[in-house]
Amino acid sequence: MTSFTQPASVPKVTLVGAGPGDPELLTLKAVKAIASATVLLVDDLVHPDVWQHASPTARIIHVGKRGGCQSTAQAFIEKLMAQEALAGENVVRLKGGDPLIFGRGGEEQQHLRAQGIQVDVINGITAGLAAAHDLGIALTHRAHAHGVMMITGHASPLHAPSTMPAIDWSLIAQTAHRCRLTLVIYMGVQTANALTQALLQGLPGHTPVAVVENASLPTQRHACACLSELGALFEREQLASPAVIVIGDVLLGLQNLAVADSPNAARQA
Ligand code: SAH
Repeated sequence: MTSFTQPASVPKVTLVGAGPGDPELLTLKAVKAIASATVLLVDDLVHPDVWQHASPTARIIHVGKRGGCQSTAQAFIEKLMAQEALAGENVVRLKGGDPLIFGRGGEEQQHLRAQGIQVDVINGITAGLAAAHDLGIALTHRAHAHGVMMITGHASPLHAPSTMPAIDWSLIAQTAHRCRLTLVIYMGVQTANALTQALLQGLPGHTPVAVVENASLPTQRHACACLSELGALFEREQLASPAVIVIGDVLLGLQNLAVADSPNAARQA
């Protein structure tokens, strides 16, 4: 008689994109994964309604920097995920936007796989796309752009491996100008002034720019100007993180707007 033994279940972590903020932008796959998790590790920018889909018995661990951890906590987060997965928990890592666009999702995936842990990824809507939606523009409108570049404005060596050369903003700007590419800059609030100066080496000062804060949320605000005034725009409108900066002719027509509310949401007082 042949006996079949049940294979031991492979430890697994699911990196789930929680989207840019609006909890209705979750995918059905994300909702299913959240509901079946026994342990959830939740990032800062994830809306509280997102983890309402979790089982009441699930353990929810907040691991975002704004939750008190410092940036050095990344190693701790990776260790914790691996530990829980290897202990047989169904681990879901909830990350803002898409889990593999910035935010170190790629590193987490590598680290877990290196330990024999299976990693599944569920895409989310990345902040740049939500920002374009809120502005009412197409990032790749064919009359103005052949494509789009998503770039980090966080050029600090602390946030990039030493093997990575610094970003050549002048070259990025020249390329965007010559090849007609829209720029979408993430994590650029702190460095906006320096970025502006560097981008002006390759893009005309009159290039339209928009900053979208809290894309997809009722608290969304956006402001438009031309590139030479980007630094002043941040100062004047007190735009703060989380925000993305969109640069390019796909914004033509929006320049005359100063600060505007979301087309799809009432702004909260
Ligand atoms: N994985 C995320 C990005 C993480 S990096 C994604 O795909 O969207 C964090 C940066 O994303 C922030 O500094 C900001 O530039 C941007 N961001 C995240 N949520 C945002 C939001 N609701 N509105 C505007 N920018 C946002």
